[in-house]
Amino acid sequence: MVTQRVRPAERAALVALAITLALTIAKVAAWASTDSLAVLSQAVDSALDLVALALVFFAVRVAGKPADEQHHYGHRKAENLVAFTQTLLLAVVVGVWRSRRRVASRADRSPSPHLPMRLACSPSPQ
Ligand SMILES: [Zn+2]
Repeated sequence: MVTQRVRPAERAALVALAITLALTIAKVAAWASTDSLAVLSQAVDSALDLVALALVFFAVRVAGKPADEQHHYGHRKAENLVAFTQTLLLAVVVGVWRSRRRVASRADRSPSPHLPMRLACSPSPQ
């Protein structure tokens, strides 16, 4: 039987993944017992870290493979691809968060006392 050696980068990613999983579970448990919005946001943050760390583990695992017929220069570009994917993930999360905040702030806002004046002064549709 061939045993595959775990490289230090893979081990670090696995340890980080395990610690983050434990933290996420603890934060979800704390949120369930306190119903605190701050704790919930921390739990969601940790859950996103889990996704990012899973991508990191995948990247370092693939990057550690030697060159083969399809990839003559090796697989190290997997790390670049995952870094780019994480950037996209972060951009999506920030976009969703900002959109949600904007929608929520408009829902909470009472009608402006200047609204009739704004409507009166706005150009008429053609
Ligand atoms: Zn390959």
